Amino acid sequence: MTDVIVSTEDEARAMVDREVEDLLAQFPPASADPTMFLGAQFDRGLAWVHFPRSCGGLGISPSLQGRVLTALREAGAPSGGWANPIGHGMVAPTIAVHGTDQQKARYLRPLFTNEEIWCQLFSEPGAGSDVASLATRAERDGDEWVVNGQKVWTTLAHLASFGLLIARTDPDVPKHRGITAFLVDMHAPGVEVRPLYQITGEAEFNEVFFTDVHVADTARLGEEGNGWGVSLTTLMNERVSIGGNVGGRGSGPIGDAVALWRARYAEDRSPHARALRDRLMGCWARSEAARLTNMRAAQNRRAGTPGPEGSVAKLAFAEENKRIYELCVDLMGAEGTLHSSDYPRVRPDHVALGTTDIHKAFLRVRANSIEGGTSEVMRNILGERVLGLPGEPRRDKDVSWKDVPRS
Ligand SMILES: Cc1cc2nc3c(=O)[nH]c(=O)nc-3n(C[C@H](O)[C@H](O)[C@H](O)COP(=O)(O)OP(=O)(O)OC[C@H]3O[C@@H](n4cnc5c(N)ncnc54)[C@H](O)[C@@H]3O)c2cc1C
Repeated sequence: MTDVIVSTEDEARAMVDREVEDLLAQFPPASADPTMFLGAQFDRGLAWVHFPRSCGGLGISPSLQGRVLTALREAGAPSGGWANPIGHGMVAPTIAVHGTDQQKARYLRPLFTNEEIWCQLFSEPGAGSDVASLATRAERDGDEWVVNGQKVWTTLAHLASFGLLIARTDPDVPKHRGITAFLVDMHAPGVEVRPLYQITGEAEFNEVFFTDVHVADTARLGEEGNGWGVSLTTLMNERVSIGGNVGGRGSGPIGDAVALWRARYAEDRSPHARALRDRLMGCWARSEAARLTNMRAAQNRRAGTPGPEGSVAKLAFAEENKRIYELCVDLMGAEGTLHSSDYPRVRPDHVALGTTDIHKAFLRVRANSIEGGTSEVMRNILGERVLGLPGEPRRDKDVSWKDVPRS
């Protein structure tokens, strides 16, 4: 399939509207099977409109994806991303850029329909913010690679069919140059997934151990030694997918805070209530500024990998969510101290998005400033790559990985 040639924005918009209309007519949302609906959405190029035709897109401006999502949401259509957030937000754009034609044909459609859940196998016990220092090894063995090592904090690995793995394939060159990316079958012999429980009492994420796991060379993503380039595509998309959503005005966490304030303090004129209202207004103003900034960024976005400025959205989202749920707990007064959860120690079947439990949200958002890169690292990226400030000293940059001291 080739990309559709549309010469003007109006033509692209009309094409999108037509495709959405036909999709909704073919699969009325009230009765549609979600998997079939999402499959048809992919086939019509409405999964990610800026991807090429063969990858669930139409090869048009990414700014039109919001139009598709709004129309489908208003029609009550099934939506997919929440069940497979790493697949949709990070793995798909990485495969679309770096995958072979066979890899795109094999993986993207079942990823979009959520028939195959994906996880991201980047962080290790000794390599988080500095993920390029990773130690998991992949060694060539004919047409295969043999993987040994450990990953950690692997969200949804217990549900994943596949994982996007970065591993060290050449320890003799500096750390960024000796990494290769692979698409790994999470049910292959030698892959072991163990739960890690979080502050909420749930185990969204896991430790993953690799012991002599055989991976075919056809599952290599990108060139040997270009794993850092591949992972930058993933990480840039990760920041936008975590922080770059554009919800309705007053929706999401700030909506929770406003609802609590209305229910408990709307008629209260005491100094305490006024102080809380001041905090609420500050949160509202910052949330709205972030929402409008994300909207503008989505409009300006060109096809291709997002740039380092995506860190603005990630940083603002993480810090504001923490402030908002701290306010929510304060708005609840003494009740705010009573967490009703009994720490169920469960392994959830999806990421805890949009919980209605304020106590749980308060605990969960603590992770926002760690997952997808910490707030300190986001500030470093913005300082160095967007503002052009001097970089941190990096003494291991030109030293071969095997000669860098590590514990
Ligand atoms: C809920 C959750 C889900 C996650 N899911 C995944 C996943 O699916 N896959 C995956 O691969 N990883 C995942 N992660 C891991 C996440 O990417 C790492 O935790 C993160 O990159 C930080 O690494 P670290 O935990 O090793 O902390 P470290 O890198 O050890 O950092 C410790 C502290 O030092 C600070 N620091 C480190 N370097 C610098 C620096 N250069 N300048 C200033 N401060 C610095 C950090 O900001 C932090 O405060 C997840 C994490 C969480 C919390």
